[in-house]
Amino acid sequence: MTLIISKMTRDDAIRLAEGKPRVQCNCCKRSEKPKKSGIGADEWLIAAHANGWRRLQSEHFDFDCVCPDCVDAFVRPVRVAV
Ligand SMILES: [Zn+2]
Repeated sequence: MTLIISKMTRDDAIRLAEGKPRVQCNCCKRSEKPKKSGIGADEWLIAAHANGWRRLQSEHFDFDCVCPDCVDAFVRPVRVAV
């Protein structure tokens, strides 16, 4: 399986909830939003990237927005039965 880890795009990854930007993991569904108000979508995207949120793509799936824990789980070497 080819795994491509890339930066998220703002339009795919950031959702506005009650006027605040939010990222939600496509895998475990956990979401994070800023505790302070006045944070823009662009700033929140930068913060999410700094924390390890990424886009993950392979032949089998395309996740626009994945949290650091799930990125770790995907990147961890997978044992394949031959
Ligand atoms: Zn996750």
